[in-house]
Amino acid sequence: MNRNDFPILKELVHGRELVYLDNAATSQKPQPVMDAIVEAYSHWNSNIHRGVHHLSQVATMKHEEARKAVAAFIGAESSDEIIFTKGTTDSINALAFCLGELLVHEGDEIIVSGLEHHSNIVPWQMLCERKKAVLRHIPLRDDLSLDIEAFKGLLNDKTRLVSVAHVSNVLGTIQPVEEIIRLAHESNIPVCIDGAQSVPHMPVDVQALNCDFLVFSGHKLYGPTGIGVLYGKREWLEKLPPHEGGGEMINHVRWSGTSYNELPYKFEAGTPNYVGSWALKTAMDYMQAIGWDAMEAHEQELTAYCEQQLRAIDGIRIYAAGQRKAGVISFNVYNGKELIHPFDIGTLLDQQGVAVRTGHHCAEPLIDEIGVPGTVRVSFGLYNDRADVDAFIAALQKSIAILG
Ligand code: PLP
Repeated sequence: MNRNDFPILKELVHGRELVYLDNAATSQKPQPVMDAIVEAYSHWNSNIHRGVHHLSQVATMKHEEARKAVAAFIGAESSDEIIFTKGTTDSINALAFCLGELLVHEGDEIIVSGLEHHSNIVPWQMLCERKKAVLRHIPLRDDLSLDIEAFKGLLNDKTRLVSVAHVSNVLGTIQPVEEIIRLAHESNIPVCIDGAQSVPHMPVDVQALNCDFLVFSGHKLYGPTGIGVLYGKREWLEKLPPHEGGGEMINHVRWSGTSYNELPYKFEAGTPNYVGSWALKTAMDYMQAIGWDAMEAHEQELTAYCEQQLRAIDGIRIYAAGQRKAGVISFNVYNGKELIHPFDIGTLLDQQGVAVRTGHHCAEPLIDEIGVPGTVRVSFGLYNDRADVDAFIAALQKSIAILG
């Protein structure tokens, strides 16, 4: 892994070299991704799909090439199944609207899990409120894993969709999505996988998983902000109504009514983020040049090393310790029985140049279940190394000494 590709890692924070361990919130960008953005605005910026002129054709070609690259990255059957959105949150909101219009009526049910990010809770709550439907959630066992037996009991003939995170953004645990998809499909219920925390860390193949929808964000994947993906199986996307009206998503507009464009354009109203899609493709190319085997092995090794170092410190409580994780560790520090507030730990770490996340991580129901005000979360990217973990552990020990 070439840290030199990531200029921001040379920044000084409070006079110290940055140790960036907040990758689950957003990842840093390699130089080629930044170059792609500058190149786009310097050489081929032009609105796509509408012009016969040269620049417009180049920009259109780049956007469509990016769509094909995304389809290949997640193993989709066709690039028509790739909808560009602003990110995971935007994708789930779009899906909640479209699916709600098509399928959800009074008394129907949607199932999420007890460890979801707010992005995979609130849009479904809003839909349920609109349609007088009911949101259910898969409960957690004591070890914070999903209670699959309870899930089986939740599935019934009113269930319209199951939507679950592939990897918990708080715990880093990899969820048994294969089993969830299989069980839901036995009852002909579609499944949406929130891949915000999995797609950046492991190969995700939508056809092998057989999920009906997959959502993720470009900015957690070494790409830019403002671009994300909603993948849907063609048979579903053909049936769903569009969620936004405007240019590009139409076939013909008459005062008597509008006919909609074909896939995927039906779901991309207005000028799309064609610079973002090209930069996302560049990020995916960058990752593929390193290769999944190397990235996964590196992150797994680093996560195990960090967990082992944390365990050696008195008073540390790691959540879902020892479970299979994808580059995320959440913990708290106790002084005897008393919790040291995660914000205090985070603030002292920051003063030593170490960036971690503290708080509820946009997953308040899970944090309530754990019964703490929040956690300290470290999360790794492909550029982190053992020196980062060592610097973090040393800074943490110093913080505990001050606060304890
Ligand atoms: N879902 C999960 C599991 C996440 O971790 C996040 C962001 O942290 C989101 C959804 C929302 O992603 P975004 O803010 O990029 O839309």
